[in-house]
Amino acid sequence: MPHNNRQNIVIIGAGVLGTAIAVNLLQYGANITIVDKTSQTQGASRVSFAWLNASWKTPFDYHDLNRRSMEMWPRYAQSIGGNVGLNLGGTVTWETDQARSETLLQNVERAQSFGYPIRIATKQEIQKQEPNLKIDKILTGSISEIEGHVEPHRVIQAAIDKITDSGGTVLLNEPFESFEFDSNLKNITAVKTAHRIIPCDIVVIAAGIDTTAIGYDAKAFIPQATSPGVTVRTSPMPKLLNGIVYAPSLEQYGKEIHMKQLIDGTFLIGEGEQSSKTSDDSQENANRLVEFATQYLPQLSDAEPRSEPIGYRPMPLDGFPAVGFVEKTPNAYVALTHSGVTLTPIIGELASLEITYGVSTPQLSPFRPTRFKEDGTGGRDEHSNSSQNSLNIDTLRRHGLD
Ligand SMILES: Cc1cc2nc3c(=O)[nH]c(=O)nc-3n(C[C@H](O)[C@H](O)[C@H](O)COP(=O)(O)OP(=O)(O)OC[C@H]3O[C@@H](n4cnc5c(N)ncnc54)[C@H](O)[C@@H]3O)c2cc1C
Repeated sequence: MPHNNRQNIVIIGAGVLGTAIAVNLLQYGANITIVDKTSQTQGASRVSFAWLNASWKTPFDYHDLNRRSMEMWPRYAQSIGGNVGLNLGGTVTWETDQARSETLLQNVERAQSFGYPIRIATKQEIQKQEPNLKIDKILTGSISEIEGHVEPHRVIQAAIDKITDSGGTVLLNEPFESFEFDSNLKNITAVKTAHRIIPCDIVVIAAGIDTTAIGYDAKAFIPQATSPGVTVRTSPMPKLLNGIVYAPSLEQYGKEIHMKQLIDGTFLIGEGEQSSKTSDDSQENANRLVEFATQYLPQLSDAEPRSEPIGYRPMPLDGFPAVGFVEKTPNAYVALTHSGVTLTPIIGELASLEITYGVSTPQLSPFRPTRFKEDGTGGRDEHSNSSQNSLNIDTLRRHGLD
């Protein structure tokens, strides 16, 4: 379809991705309306751990997409202004178990072979990076100094302010209801929300886990896995950490733990790895996780644990991003991904170039939504598809948008 810089573009979803695409599109002169069904954009971004990393990500094209995006974060943060809590204090991790140590060593070697600056580190080096940690023994440890984190609710607010300052329209409490199509049922001509009909030249669907259902209405077929995660918080504490800590499991507490500290002193603590499925959002579990973290950071004994609601990771079924135009509806563009906080700057920048100028960027080409077939199969073969997931196409057919 023809592309011009004055297109009316409606973006559905004001999480980190939708707002980043809006900010970038505005630079090219588009007329932007972004709608979100909630008042405070309550999607995955709000409960995310928001670690900016590429260390364990494979294969190389996916690793490199994340790596490039990490490098772009300072520029994106500067472009939206405000303090978004960008902290590039690095990540430390270590293992005490033989098998997990060997895996860590292999993962570090693979990341190094991708050209990623990560290194094996001694206990002394890790303690130098994070002096408040209490570490008894280390079999293998690693440090990556280029990693960091942000605070997504601050990122979204700064982006929304930038969008409105740049002449865009942000409509909150504005749930999407349906699309209107042209007489050939080819292109979308308007987006109908609960409150109005918004005519458009292009639609961007960046609605997190709801992208599968909304995309289905635009004839996009992107099956998702259900991936719950819980990140607990604490009351604000004095500054104790410089960056991200991944600490090993302890027999009495279970899986490994990850933690970071926000600019107001609050700690965020999660169990397992970045993609581990966890769904216990009870206060008892919050108490247990903070007690676990206290084994490594004794000063946390004064912290008050606060449970947080379960978050659901947007997760295309094969685990990779699904970003690009929809084959059967040429003026609809989809942006759905896990690790979306890490990937925000690059997806915002590349998607806006593709939408404005009709180019196909080589960085996004391996991650098109068109790799999935109408029956929900397909995808990159690195991960096997599973019929166990509840957000697959069959479920959508049965339940529609519910
Ligand atoms: C527990 C957890 C930990 C994570 N840890 C990390 C991490 O360490 N590093 C990392 O990079 N990523 C992490 N992620 C993933 C990351 O948070 C997401 O990939 C990212 O936030 C996705 O952003 P988004 O804008 O696509 O989606 P969302 O933030 O979910 O935003 C989608 C928006 O669409 C809106 N919407 C939905 N339906 C409608 C509708 N019908 N009408 C209008 N609006 C609608 C929603 O209200 C929402 O605001 C984590 C996620 C979770 C849940």
